[in-house]
Amino acid sequence: MSKRWTPESWRNKPVLHMPTDYPDAAELARVEDELRAMPPLVFAGEARKLTSHLAQVEAGEAFLLQGGDCAESFKEFSTDNIRDTFRLILQMAVVLTFAGRKPVVKVGRIAGQFAKPRSSPVEEIGGVELPSYRGDIINGMGFTPEERTPDPQRLIRAYNQSASTLNLLRAFAGGGYADLYNIHRWTLGFADHGAGAAYRELADKITEALAFMEAVGVTPETHPDLSRVEVFTSHEALLLNVESALTRLDGASGEWFDTSAHMLWIGERTRQLDGAHIEFMRGISNPIGVKCGPTMTADDLLPLIDALNPNNIPGRLTLIGRFGHDKVGDRLPGLMRAVKAAGKRVIWSIDPMHGNTLKAANGYKTRPFDRVMGEVRTFIDVAEAEGVHPGGVHLEMTGQNVTECLGGAQAVTEDDLSSRYHTHCDPRLNADQALELAFLVAERLKA
Ligand code: PEP
Ligand code: MN
Repeated sequence: MSKRWTPESWRNKPVLHMPTDYPDAAELARVEDELRAMPPLVFAGEARKLTSHLAQVEAGEAFLLQGGDCAESFKEFSTDNIRDTFRLILQMAVVLTFAGRKPVVKVGRIAGQFAKPRSSPVEEIGGVELPSYRGDIINGMGFTPEERTPDPQRLIRAYNQSASTLNLLRAFAGGGYADLYNIHRWTLGFADHGAGAAYRELADKITEALAFMEAVGVTPETHPDLSRVEVFTSHEALLLNVESALTRLDGASGEWFDTSAHMLWIGERTRQLDGAHIEFMRGISNPIGVKCGPTMTADDLLPLIDALNPNNIPGRLTLIGRFGHDKVGDRLPGLMRAVKAAGKRVIWSIDPMHGNTLKAANGYKTRPFDRVMGEVRTFIDVAEAEGVHPGGVHLEMTGQNVTECLGGAQAVTEDDLSSRYHTHCDPRLNADQALELAFLVAERLKA
């Protein structure tokens, strides 16, 4: 691997999963120039702060909660959607903090999570073949040649939507909406209705702890920090033209930061050691993640770690396993062992979504809650057996009451899937399923 890195050096490497069929290359180049002139969405200092929080996760002193949409979309963009996902992240974080007795680092898949790698470049319906939908930042979901043609103007719209989303998140995070007492009151609503009742005991303990704090005078009035939270953003760094256009030199440190999000990750399909995505990611100083799927071997992983984190900086690199409930027990121990034996300072997190996708009899892509939860449980078991900190979870979820994943306390059935199936790509846990997962993980972490 050549040592010389620039924000554009990825262009000399083989690149997968980026569209090559823009009708007008000159228009695309103009849009990339426009993005180069846009203000940063996040600041170098914030990304550095996230690295230091993640270093605590690496040391076993904190837990990482990363979650949000599979794909953000132009259609589902609304204040309510952003607020509800933000609120869900906070509710889950309170439950996990209480049970795990550790701070929870909160990272949304939000404000930039638009582009999707697809298993097939084309989709065929009734004998008609068109390019696959690749996320609203590239083309449209409608099954027409016009919609499926990539449009560079979508890059600008996605940037603007990310800026608005981030603006709202910053306001919610700092403006009192995130009051610890409020967050818990919402969770009590969940533990009150039938399905959530199983978690009443833990919820009641949190209520008692908060009542005690209040009694000794620890309230949002006396401790304003109780009504503020830190929330970070992340997305898959798939469109390297966008990522490099938003990559800026930080004057203070002389380091490059991708200012499109605090944290970026490399997907399972673009983690080739000699590929463009690794080349780009090795040069930015943001905290980064790499998805680790069932085909990954220790011989694949160790060189990747060396390429992405040559100085072995704690908090820099998160390995996000996504094996499937039936494979995690077989694949993860060897990887964890090899990484530990090599002395690599990384965070291990689990994405229990992408290895557990199936097609229901009625054609809907779905994920059974039991399998999602099963992969998380095995992840924690394996980590404990290997003497590794189970550092975090990476989830596709929404604050909305959708019916996309099967099961959970509310028992979503195959027949229910069609009722509120709104995702633009993969099926997400709904608010109750995600909160239930947080309670189950919490019970497991405190055991
Ligand atoms: C995703 O996180 O939406 C995704 C595509 O995951 P993976 O790269 O693990 O398949
Ligand atoms: Mn997905």
